[in-house]
Formats: sequence, C-alpha cells, structure tokens
Amino acid sequence: MMNKKIELLAPAGDLEKAKTAIRFGADAVYLGGKRFSLRSRASNFEIEDIAKACEFAKIHGANIHVTVNMIPHEEDLEGIEEYLMTLERIGVKAIIVASVAIIEIAKRVAPGLEIHLSTQMSTTNLPAIEFYRLLGADRVVLARECNIEQVKYIAQHAPLSIEAFIHGGMCVNYSGRCTLSNQMTFRDANRGGCAQSCRWKYHLFKDGKELSHPECLFSMSSKDLMAVDYVYDMMASNVASLKIEGRMKTNYYIATVVKTYRMLIDEIAACGTNLSPQRLAYYRQEIAKAENRPCADGFYGGLPTNKTHLYGVNGSGVTHDFVGVVLSYDKEKKLAKIQSRNVFKINDELEVFGPHITDEPFTVTRIIDQDGQDIISSNRPMAEVFVPIDFNVEPLDMIRRR
Ligand code: SF4
Repeated sequence: MMNKKIELLAPAGDLEKAKTAIRFGADAVYLGGKRFSLRSRASNFEIEDIAKACEFAKIHGANIHVTVNMIPHEEDLEGIEEYLMTLERIGVKAIIVASVAIIEIAKRVAPGLEIHLSTQMSTTNLPAIEFYRLLGADRVVLARECNIEQVKYIAQHAPLSIEAFIHGGMCVNYSGRCTLSNQMTFRDANRGGCAQSCRWKYHLFKDGKELSHPECLFSMSSKDLMAVDYVYDMMASNVASLKIEGRMKTNYYIATVVKTYRMLIDEIAACGTNLSPQRLAYYRQEIAKAENRPCADGFYGGLPTNKTHLYGVNGSGVTHDFVGVVLSYDKEKKLAKIQSRNVFKINDELEVFGPHITDEPFTVTRIIDQDGQDIISSNRPMAEVFVPIDFNVEPLDMIRRR
C-alpha cells in the first residue's frame, strides 16, 4: 500500500534554515550540534538553538532529529550522557547514530529518543536491520549504495521503518568509509571533519608526465543525487522517510529543494500513481533553479557509470539566481518590502515562490529605497527596498530570476 504520509526530512545548518525547511514543507528536520556529529564544522546549533528548533517544529507539527553520528574514540564520549538527556528533555524526536556505544548509552539514559541508524552504518540488507532492531533501533537509513529494487524489497520486508536519500551529495567512496580527508588534512571524516578532499583539483602524473590539462585538473567528485524519478517507487513500497542531504547548503537551496519534493510527494499521493514524464521533468527543472551541481540518480538505477561522475569540474547547473526575501507586504498599496540578496533592476523578470505560492512571475516596474527615492537597481546586499507586486505575497517568500 502506498505511504501517502511519507516523511520529508530536510537538513538544516542553522536555526534559520530549520525554520525555512519546515515553512516550505518538511515534516522533519535533521541538524547537528557542535559535538558528537559528523559535519560538526557545518553546524551552528548550540543546545539553545536546538531547543528553539524543537519549539518551532512543534508549533508546525514537525519533528527535529539530531545527528549524533560520529565514530567516537574513547575521549570523544565525555559528556555524551548529559547531551543525550538534554536532547530528550528539550523535545528532540530522534537521534541519528553510527556507533553501538552511543546506542547503548542513549537506551540507558534517554530512552524517549528514537534511535535512527545513520547511513554511515552502510546498511544494505535485512539481517543487518534485524540485528539493529535487537539493539533497540527504531529506523534505519539505508546506504546510498542500494539500487531502487533493493530499497523497495528492504522497505517492504524490514522489521523497522526505512529512510532513504532522495537528494544531495554523494561520496565517491563508500559513504563515509573514507580516509582521504584524514590523509590530506588530518581532519577525520568520521569525526565530523571531512574536508571533501575528493573534490579538490589534482594534477595527474604518469611516469613523470602530466596527464591532466592545466586548465581542467582532475577531481573525483560524484554528481549529486536527484531521485525525482524514484519517489513514487519509494512511496509505493512503504519507505517511511525521504531524506535530503545538505546541512551546509543555503537557505534558498533548502527552500527550493524542500518545496519541490513537497509538491512532488503531494501530487503522487493525490494521484495514487506515478506521474507523467512531463510532470517529472517539471520537478527536475524546479530543483535546477537552486541546484548548483549537476545531478544523477546515484545508485538507484544500478551501478554508477562515468556519466555520474565529475572528473574535471565541479560544475554549475543552476538556472535561477536568488534575488531577495519578502519582509512584508502592504495589500492596499500592493507594495512588497524586500531584502536584497543579489542585484536586480527595473524591467527584470522575477518570480516569487513560497509555502503558499509557486513560481508567480512579475516584472520590476519600480524600486523605492528606504528614503522613498526611486532607484534603477538594488545593488547593495541586504538593502531593504520597496517593489510593487500586484498579487499577495507573504513574509519570507523568496524571489528569484531566471
Ligand atoms: S573526502 Fe569525499 S569521498 Fe571521502 S568522506 Fe569526504 S566527501 Fe566522502
């Protein structure tokens, strides 16, 4: 039976992004504290911020998951009990873990927290899931290295709920089981320090002769995952949660990707069938408005080929610029107050998107500065200006330009 209530799980690197993800349609947000988390360098979450995220999520009927997914060495465990008890007390729903030590501690000191097995555990089969169930796990995040038939089979037969990635970065190595960063920078990928050394540019030599072109050096980056074409399969096979990767991504990226998958899930749930190729293409185009890396279907379509890798470039496929955020809207004057994030000018063709508005276009006919003076362009980042828009917009709606 189709899981029409499938969870859309979004990343957040700070409190503003957590709120954005929830406003734009995420059912749950995962974030990391400053300790005990991979990507700890990307996190701005002190306990107070996690508590605020929990309060905001509760008001909007969403949940907060916290990554506690480092592979801890002995000294890393100091303070973990207090940390887990605090997470439970402030209303965190689940922790995402990659260590049996942390599972054992959480079950003992914070039994109200759900235990979600991180993708770092590289789970690709049912016996492993059964073992984690016996340890007390509530959910398993499948390895990105499963193909879609394996995801479907596991989700239909697993004794625990299953979470699968639908969007975001991939590792060229088996997710997280990589010491490239450790070797290159002494930053431990499994203790939150990955420097993404695979994406650096390398000079390739053979027998003392350089193989790489000086203007197109070699890198080992995978294309990002985009699983628009597989969301129906996952819903139809009872996957519990669809996960977007990217705690280091921008607010605009989070808003765009979350809203797109929200619309896609809701449309599939309403139809009860997969969508036409045209509708799926529409959703891929929506994501391309913020996705600045080329995308592929990862392992879902089978073993990745050379077409899923970026050997020479990191690539840039973004089709739209983020221009600004709506701060307020005067319905009588039909005038929006906008905080600029990128240059825009008179006659620009822009579009608004938000939780309650999708790609509504308008032309910039006037720009009025804070002193009430007409200007021809808004070219100062974070400047607040007034722009006529003849349809209703809401605070925190976003504006972009093709
Ligand atoms: S260096 Fe690259 S492949 Fe290795 S863990 Fe980091 S992102 Fe993954």
